[in-house]
This record gives sequence, structure tokens and C-alpha cells, in this order.
Amino acid sequence: MSEKHVGGGCLWPMWPHSATPNHEYCGKKRQDGQSYCTQHYARSIRNPEDLPETFVPRKIAA
Ligand SMILES: [Zn+2]
Repeated sequence: MSEKHVGGGCLWPMWPHSATPNHEYCGKKRQDGQSYCTQHYARSIRNPEDLPETFVPRKIAA
């Protein structure tokens, strides 16, 4: 009787920050113990402007 998946959907808001909240959420399967799916959990812990496409790791000069 696991309760992990009760209510089950990702709670990432789908409306823009500047818009009036319409309470539509992503709704994908959450990660265990998180309120977001894998994709949105990653988004939640990084700068919104730091898109993967623009992230270029730089070599650190020793
Ligand atoms: Zn999501």
C-alpha cells in the first residue's frame, strides 16, 4: 500500500510568471519525494535562463 503516487502529478505551473494563474500543472509522474517530474525538478534547481543548449562546460585552466 504505497502512498507515493497518491495524487500523482507534477506540480510545475504551466502558465508564464507574468500571466494570471490558471492552475494548469504539468501532471507528469513525479519523482519519488518530489513535487515535480524529472524534467521540471531539473528546471527547479537551476537558473531558468540557463538552458541546456547554452550550457557549455569550460575547461578550468590549472
Ligand atoms: Zn513536470
